[in-house]
Amino acid sequence: MTLAIVVHGGAKTITDNKVEANNAGCKAAVEAGWAVLTSGGTAAEAVEAAIRVLEADRTFNASLGAVLNDDGEVELDAAIMEGDSFGWGSVAAVQGVRHPISVARKIMDTKPMLLVARSAERFAADNGVEMCAKEDLITGEQRKEWEEEQEVIDRPNTVGCVALDANGTLAAGTSTGGTTNQLAGRVGDTALVGSGLYADNKLGACSTTGDGESIIPVVLAKTAIDLLDGDRHPDEAAQMAIEILKSKVEGEAGCILLDGQGRVGWAHNSSDMACGYMTTSQDKPAVFTKKKTLAEKI
Ligand code: ASP
Repeated sequence: MTLAIVVHGGAKTITDNKVEANNAGCKAAVEAGWAVLTSGGTAAEAVEAAIRVLEADRTFNASLGAVLNDDGEVELDAAIMEGDSFGWGSVAAVQGVRHPISVARKIMDTKPMLLVARSAERFAADNGVEMCAKEDLITGEQRKEWEEEQEVIDRPNTVGCVALDANGTLAAGTSTGGTTNQLAGRVGDTALVGSGLYADNKLGACSTTGDGESIIPVVLAKTAIDLLDGDRHPDEAAQMAIEILKSKVEGEAGCILLDGQGRVGWAHNSSDMACGYMTTSQDKPAVFTKKKTLAEKI
Protein backbone atom coordinates (compact mmCIF):
# COMPACT_ATOMS: atom_id res chain seq x y z
CA MET A 1 0.00 0.00 0.00
CA THR A 2 1.57 3.26 -1.11
CA LEU A 3 0.42 6.59 0.31
CA ALA A 4 1.67 9.94 -0.91
CA ILE A 5 0.90 13.62 -0.61
CA VAL A 6 2.45 16.67 -2.29
CA VAL A 7 1.62 20.32 -1.57
CA HIS A 8 2.70 23.59 -3.14
CA GLY A 9 2.68 27.16 -1.93
CA GLY A 10 2.85 28.78 -5.32
CA ALA A 11 5.26 29.63 -8.12
CA LYS A 12 6.83 32.93 -7.08
CA THR A 13 9.95 34.68 -5.86
CA ILE A 14 10.74 33.80 -2.25
CA THR A 15 13.12 36.16 -0.48
CA ASP A 16 15.46 34.72 2.16
CA ASN A 17 13.39 36.02 5.07
CA LYS A 18 10.31 34.18 3.81
CA VAL A 19 11.96 30.78 3.23
CA GLU A 20 11.32 29.54 6.74
CA ALA A 21 7.63 30.53 6.72
CA ASN A 22 7.10 28.82 3.34
CA ASN A 23 8.85 25.65 4.51
CA ALA A 24 6.96 25.60 7.81
CA GLY A 25 3.62 26.15 6.06
CA CYS A 26 4.21 23.36 3.55
CA LYS A 27 5.41 20.98 6.27
CA ALA A 28 2.33 21.64 8.41
CA ALA A 29 0.06 21.09 5.40
CA VAL A 30 1.80 17.83 4.44
CA GLU A 31 1.49 16.61 8.03
CA ALA A 32 -2.22 17.42 8.16
CA GLY A 33 -2.88 15.57 4.90
CA TRP A 34 -0.62 12.69 5.89
CA ALA A 35 -2.52 12.22 9.18
CA VAL A 36 -5.71 11.82 7.14
CA LEU A 37 -4.14 9.31 4.74
CA THR A 38 -2.55 7.19 7.47
CA SER A 39 -5.79 6.99 9.41
CA GLY A 40 -7.60 5.56 6.39
CA GLY A 41 -9.01 8.80 4.96
CA THR A 42 -9.57 9.37 1.28
CA ALA A 43 -7.27 11.31 -1.02
CA ALA A 44 -9.90 14.07 -1.35
CA GLU A 45 -10.14 14.36 2.45
CA ALA A 46 -6.35 14.60 2.68
CA VAL A 47 -6.24 17.27 -0.05
CA GLU A 48 -8.91 19.28 1.74
CA ALA A 49 -7.14 18.98 5.11
CA ALA A 50 -3.78 20.05 3.69
CA ILE A 51 -5.21 22.99 1.76
CA ARG A 52 -7.18 24.20 4.80
CA VAL A 53 -3.83 24.53 6.63
CA LEU A 54 -2.38 26.56 3.77
CA GLU A 55 -5.53 28.71 3.50
CA ALA A 56 -5.25 29.58 7.19
CA ASP A 57 -1.57 30.54 6.82
CA ARG A 58 -1.04 34.18 5.86
CA THR A 59 2.22 33.27 4.12
CA PHE A 60 0.18 32.04 1.18
CA ASN A 61 -2.22 33.64 -1.27
CA ALA A 62 -5.34 31.68 -0.37
CA SER A 63 -8.05 32.88 1.97
CA LEU A 64 -6.33 34.60 4.94
CA GLY A 65 -3.57 36.82 3.56
CA ALA A 66 -4.72 36.58 -0.04
CA VAL A 67 -3.84 39.41 -2.40
CA LEU A 68 -6.38 42.19 -2.96
CA ASN A 69 -8.20 42.93 -6.19
CA ASP A 70 -8.62 46.39 -7.74
CA ASP A 71 -11.50 47.11 -5.35
CA GLY A 72 -9.16 46.37 -2.41
CA GLU A 73 -11.04 43.17 -1.59
CA VAL A 74 -10.19 39.47 -1.33
CA GLU A 75 -11.92 37.22 -3.88
CA LEU A 76 -11.16 33.53 -3.80
CA ASP A 77 -11.17 30.61 -6.24
CA ALA A 78 -10.78 26.93 -5.32
CA ALA A 79 -11.43 23.54 -6.85
CA ILE A 80 -11.01 19.85 -6.07
CA MET A 81 -11.19 16.68 -8.19
CA GLU A 82 -11.15 12.93 -7.53
CA GLY A 83 -9.46 10.56 -9.95
CA ASP A 84 -11.74 7.54 -9.51
CA SER A 85 -15.20 9.09 -10.00
CA PHE A 86 -14.04 12.15 -11.95
CA GLY A 87 -16.13 14.07 -9.42
CA TRP A 88 -15.19 17.70 -9.06
CA GLY A 89 -16.34 20.89 -7.39
CA SER A 90 -15.31 24.48 -7.86
CA VAL A 91 -15.98 28.00 -6.56
CA ALA A 92 -14.84 31.31 -7.98
CA ALA A 93 -14.85 34.97 -6.95
CA VAL A 94 -16.16 33.98 -3.53
CA GLN A 95 -15.92 36.26 -0.48
CA GLY A 96 -16.36 35.85 3.25
CA VAL A 97 -15.52 32.14 3.32
CA ARG A 98 -12.57 30.94 5.40
CA HIS A 99 -12.01 27.71 3.51
CA PRO A 100 -13.06 27.85 -0.13
CA ILE A 101 -11.57 24.38 -0.65
CA SER A 102 -14.20 22.99 1.73
CA VAL A 103 -16.96 24.68 -0.24
CA ALA A 104 -15.54 23.16 -3.44
CA ARG A 105 -15.49 19.73 -1.80
CA LYS A 106 -19.12 20.02 -0.71
CA ILE A 107 -20.15 21.16 -4.19
CA MET A 108 -18.57 17.96 -5.54
CA ASP A 109 -21.64 16.04 -4.38
CA THR A 110 -24.11 18.33 -6.14
CA LYS A 111 -24.99 19.88 -9.46
CA PRO A 112 -24.09 22.45 -10.68
CA MET A 113 -20.46 21.89 -9.73
CA LEU A 114 -19.04 25.34 -10.40
CA LEU A 115 -20.58 28.24 -8.48
CA VAL A 116 -19.40 31.84 -8.44
CA ALA A 117 -19.72 34.85 -6.15
CA ARG A 118 -23.08 35.21 -4.36
CA SER A 119 -24.41 31.77 -5.21
CA ALA A 120 -21.19 30.12 -3.99
CA GLU A 121 -21.43 32.13 -0.77
CA ARG A 122 -25.09 31.16 -0.33
CA PHE A 123 -24.21 27.51 -0.94
CA ALA A 124 -21.40 27.74 1.64
CA ALA A 125 -23.65 29.29 4.28
CA ASP A 126 -26.44 26.77 3.62
CA ASN A 127 -24.01 23.87 3.92
CA GLY A 128 -22.43 24.75 7.22
CA VAL A 129 -19.11 26.03 5.89
CA GLU A 130 -17.35 28.52 8.16
CA MET A 131 -18.24 32.06 7.08
CA CYS A 132 -16.57 35.32 8.09
CA ALA A 133 -16.69 39.02 7.28
CA LYS A 134 -14.92 39.51 3.98
CA GLU A 135 -12.56 42.01 5.67
CA ASP A 136 -11.41 39.30 8.10
CA LEU A 137 -9.32 37.71 5.36
CA ILE A 138 -7.35 40.89 4.67
CA THR A 139 -4.00 41.09 6.46
CA GLY A 140 -2.19 44.33 7.27
CA GLU A 141 0.63 43.38 4.93
CA GLN A 142 -1.67 42.93 1.95
CA ARG A 143 -3.65 46.11 2.72
CA LYS A 144 -0.43 48.14 3.01
CA GLU A 145 0.97 46.73 -0.19
CA TRP A 146 -2.26 47.49 -2.03
CA GLU A 147 -2.55 51.02 -0.66
CA GLU A 148 1.06 51.86 -1.42
CA GLU A 149 1.13 49.89 -4.67
CA GLN A 150 4.59 48.76 -3.63
CA GLU A 151 6.87 46.82 -5.90
CA VAL A 152 6.77 43.67 -3.81
CA ILE A 153 9.21 40.92 -4.69
CA ASP A 154 7.78 37.99 -2.83
CA ARG A 155 4.05 38.17 -3.17
CA PRO A 156 2.19 35.28 -1.63
CA ASN A 157 0.93 32.73 -4.11
CA THR A 158 -1.64 30.04 -4.80
CA VAL A 159 -1.65 26.75 -2.89
CA GLY A 160 -2.38 23.23 -4.03
CA CYS A 161 -2.21 19.57 -3.09
CA VAL A 162 -2.31 16.14 -4.70
CA ALA A 163 -2.69 12.89 -2.77
CA LEU A 164 -2.84 9.11 -3.20
CA ASP A 165 -4.85 7.09 -0.68
CA ALA A 166 -4.82 3.44 0.43
CA ASN A 167 -7.45 2.52 -2.17
CA GLY A 168 -5.22 3.80 -4.96
CA THR A 169 -7.42 6.86 -5.51
CA LEU A 170 -5.80 10.13 -6.50
CA ALA A 171 -7.17 13.61 -5.84
CA ALA A 172 -6.07 17.16 -6.60
CA GLY A 173 -7.04 20.55 -5.21
CA THR A 174 -6.00 24.17 -5.70
CA SER A 175 -6.95 27.40 -3.89
CA THR A 176 -6.03 31.02 -4.60
CA GLY A 177 -6.72 34.70 -4.13
CA GLY A 178 -5.83 35.24 -7.79
CA THR A 179 -3.39 37.90 -8.88
CA THR A 180 -2.54 41.19 -7.19
CA ASN A 181 -4.85 44.04 -8.13
CA GLN A 182 -6.78 41.81 -10.49
CA LEU A 183 -10.02 43.18 -11.89
CA ALA A 184 -12.82 42.34 -9.46
CA GLY A 185 -14.57 39.28 -10.87
CA ARG A 186 -11.50 37.95 -12.70
CA VAL A 187 -11.24 34.17 -12.54
CA GLY A 188 -7.96 32.41 -13.37
CA ASP A 189 -7.02 28.79 -13.89
CA THR A 190 -7.45 27.65 -10.28
CA ALA A 191 -11.20 27.14 -10.56
CA LEU A 192 -10.92 25.32 -13.88
CA VAL A 193 -10.60 21.55 -14.04
CA GLY A 194 -7.91 20.70 -16.60
CA SER A 195 -6.01 23.95 -16.10
CA GLY A 196 -5.63 24.48 -12.34
CA LEU A 197 -5.98 20.84 -11.34
CA TYR A 198 -6.76 17.39 -12.65
CA ALA A 199 -6.96 13.83 -11.33
CA ASP A 200 -7.31 10.54 -13.17
CA ASN A 201 -6.62 7.29 -11.32
CA LYS A 202 -5.23 5.73 -14.49
CA LEU A 203 -2.50 8.37 -14.81
CA GLY A 204 -2.03 10.82 -11.95
CA ALA A 205 -3.04 14.00 -10.17
CA CYS A 206 -1.79 17.53 -10.75
CA SER A 207 -2.19 21.00 -9.20
CA THR A 208 -0.81 24.09 -10.91
CA THR A 209 0.12 27.67 -10.03
CA GLY A 210 1.24 30.74 -11.91
CA ASP A 211 -0.19 33.12 -14.50
CA GLY A 212 -3.72 31.88 -15.02
CA GLU A 213 -4.05 33.56 -18.40
CA SER A 214 -1.05 31.50 -19.59
CA ILE A 215 -1.98 28.26 -17.85
CA ILE A 216 -5.53 28.15 -19.25
CA PRO A 217 -4.67 28.01 -22.97
CA VAL A 218 -2.20 25.15 -22.43
CA VAL A 219 -4.60 23.33 -20.08
CA LEU A 220 -1.55 22.78 -17.92
CA ALA A 221 -2.79 20.22 -15.39
CA LYS A 222 -4.28 17.91 -18.01
CA THR A 223 -1.25 18.40 -20.25
CA ALA A 224 1.04 17.30 -17.41
CA ILE A 225 -1.14 14.27 -16.62
CA ASP A 226 -1.27 13.13 -20.24
CA LEU A 227 2.52 13.18 -20.27
CA LEU A 228 2.52 10.44 -17.61
CA ASP A 229 1.28 8.00 -20.23
CA GLY A 230 3.74 5.19 -20.94
CA ASP A 231 4.96 5.15 -17.32
CA ARG A 232 6.90 8.41 -17.66
CA HIS A 233 8.22 9.59 -14.28
CA PRO A 234 6.17 12.52 -12.86
CA ASP A 235 9.31 14.63 -12.45
CA GLU A 236 10.04 14.36 -16.15
CA ALA A 237 6.38 14.91 -17.08
CA ALA A 238 6.13 18.01 -14.86
CA GLN A 239 9.23 19.51 -16.45
CA MET A 240 7.95 18.69 -19.95
CA ALA A 241 4.61 20.35 -19.17
CA ILE A 242 6.36 23.56 -18.09
CA GLU A 243 8.52 23.43 -21.26
CA ILE A 244 5.33 23.14 -23.34
CA LEU A 245 3.88 26.18 -21.58
CA LYS A 246 7.10 28.12 -22.19
CA SER A 247 7.11 27.18 -25.87
CA LYS A 248 3.54 28.40 -26.44
CA VAL A 249 2.91 31.36 -24.13
CA GLU A 250 4.71 33.82 -21.90
CA GLY A 251 4.36 33.64 -18.17
CA GLU A 252 5.45 31.90 -15.01
CA ALA A 253 3.96 28.64 -13.86
CA GLY A 254 4.59 25.60 -11.75
CA CYS A 255 2.98 22.25 -11.10
CA ILE A 256 3.06 19.32 -8.70
CA LEU A 257 2.39 15.87 -10.05
CA LEU A 258 1.79 12.47 -8.48
CA ASP A 259 1.22 9.12 -10.17
CA GLY A 260 -0.60 5.99 -9.03
CA GLN A 261 2.67 4.45 -7.79
CA GLY A 262 3.14 7.39 -5.44
CA ARG A 263 6.00 8.85 -7.47
CA VAL A 264 6.38 12.61 -7.04
CA GLY A 265 7.21 15.27 -9.61
CA TRP A 266 7.30 19.05 -9.67
CA ALA A 267 8.63 21.81 -11.87
CA HIS A 268 8.44 25.58 -12.24
CA ASN A 269 9.82 28.34 -14.41
CA SER A 270 9.36 30.99 -11.72
CA SER A 271 12.38 31.82 -9.65
CA ASP A 272 11.07 29.79 -6.69
CA MET A 273 8.19 27.54 -5.72
CA ALA A 274 7.30 26.31 -2.27
CA CYS A 275 6.76 22.54 -2.27
CA GLY A 276 6.55 19.74 0.28
CA TYR A 277 5.85 16.02 0.12
CA MET A 278 5.65 12.82 2.08
CA THR A 279 5.42 9.25 0.80
CA THR A 280 5.50 5.82 2.41
CA SER A 281 9.17 5.55 1.54
CA GLN A 282 10.12 8.64 3.62
CA ASP A 283 10.43 8.97 7.38
CA LYS A 284 9.70 12.71 7.38
CA PRO A 285 8.29 15.33 4.99
CA ALA A 286 10.65 16.94 2.49
CA VAL A 287 10.21 20.70 1.91
CA PHE A 288 11.77 23.00 -0.64
CA THR A 289 11.46 26.55 -1.95
CA LYS A 290 13.18 25.89 -5.24
CA LYS A 291 13.60 22.95 -7.60
CA LYS A 292 17.24 22.25 -8.17
CA THR A 293 18.21 21.83 -11.81
CA LEU A 294 20.17 18.76 -12.81
CA ALA A 295 23.32 20.90 -13.03
CA GLU A 296 22.81 22.19 -9.47
CA LYS A 297 22.30 18.65 -8.16
CA ILE A 298 25.65 17.41 -9.53
N1 ASP B 1 -3.00 30.75 -10.93
C1 ASP B 1 -3.52 31.80 -10.11
C2 ASP B 1 -4.44 32.69 -10.93
O1 ASP B 1 -4.10 33.00 -12.05
C3 ASP B 1 -2.50 32.66 -9.48
C4 ASP B 1 -1.23 31.98 -9.05
O2 ASP B 1 -1.08 30.77 -9.02
O3 ASP B 1 -0.32 32.72 -8.69
O4 ASP B 1 -5.44 33.11 -10.44
